[in-house]
Amino acid sequence: MASSCPGAATAHSCSSRPTPWLWGFRSMPLSQHKISASGSDSTGAAMAAVASKGPPVSEELNRGIARFYDSSSSVWEDVWGEHMHHGFYDPGKPLKGDHRAAQVRMIQEALAWAGIPADEEKPKKIVDVGCGIGGSARHLSRKYSAMVRGITLSPVQAQRANDITAEAGLGEKVSFQVADALIQPFPDNEFDLVWSMESGEHMPDKRKFMQELVRVAAPGGRLLIVTWCHRDLSPEESSLRKEEQELLDKICSAYYLPAWCSAFDYVELAKELQLEDVRAEDWSVYVSPFWPAVIASALNPKALFGLLRSAFRLDNNPRSLCNGLYDTRLQKRSHQICSHYWKKACSEVNSSVLLLLI
Ligand code: SAH
Repeated sequence: MASSCPGAATAHSCSSRPTPWLWGFRSMPLSQHKISASGSDSTGAAMAAVASKGPPVSEELNRGIARFYDSSSSVWEDVWGEHMHHGFYDPGKPLKGDHRAAQVRMIQEALAWAGIPADEEKPKKIVDVGCGIGGSARHLSRKYSAMVRGITLSPVQAQRANDITAEAGLGEKVSFQVADALIQPFPDNEFDLVWSMESGEHMPDKRKFMQELVRVAAPGGRLLIVTWCHRDLSPEESSLRKEEQELLDKICSAYYLPAWCSAFDYVELAKELQLEDVRAEDWSVYVSPFWPAVIASALNPKALFGLLRSAFRLDNNPRSLCNGLYDTRLQKRSHQICSHYWKKACSEVNSSVLLLLI
């Protein structure tokens, strides 16, 4: 299927697959950016469409996301460790089985792809938007000796992220708090690297999401987003095919995701926000081996035990055992089903991971 490629995007390689990695620089003060919330010209109209694809920012969605991560993060950590994102694999090569290393590699490949400097030009103040339990933030702080702030909707994640960070002796440089990425608690122009690893798919308003990322980025700073996207639409299409949409809807309902957009949509938003040197790339082929491993891990007795334990951890009420068992059954089921759907989506719908660097 043909893709509608953004011709003006610098260093952007067009392909029939969606483009998952995209980058650019913010070079001018925010006041000079022409940011349109409603989209009054043709580009703006396209971006308004992106924003209107999802439901309005809703407390209900945020509560669902917070609850989902409050209850599942400790299980994930037990089985997978501190990173809650895809691993990066060499396509066509036999899997070595070290999926945690593949997750760290994902961060390294993203930084290398984006050309984030490690010399005196290296980032000094970083924000991790949708930080999970802080795996990326600590990695970035160690690599660049940087100050890092992380935000998540999940109070359990923020607490756990701060605890691990203190234990690791990074407490003076790295900290986490509960906050909404669409209303960030940071001043304008604060960070020279804005990092979002697989959280953008949760954002119900991609325009507002991007505006906030740009607002907190310092002039000349970079923005790097890795997120899930569906394939680019052809010029003749106004939506995905029915069967594609149905598949994605199943993933959305299990993982508290609003509607997906394409990498092309993100590129258009970046252009609208006058970001420079924008590029995107499809990394589906590098991440797809991850899902079979997730499916296998859900069958692991340790994962099951962890699910039960996490139910106890959430509150000390003995009745939570029943709730925990119930949640455990549901979570395990939804996670397994979702993994299968995602795997299918990755190979058949060309849903992919987008990385956006600005
Ligand atoms: N980036 C982390 C975690 C990815 S999981 C990692 O790679 O390990 C998705 C994260 O996005 C969760 O921490 C979730 O709380 C966060 N998130 C989702 N919607 C958010 C929002 N509106 N504001 C802040 N964080 C959000």
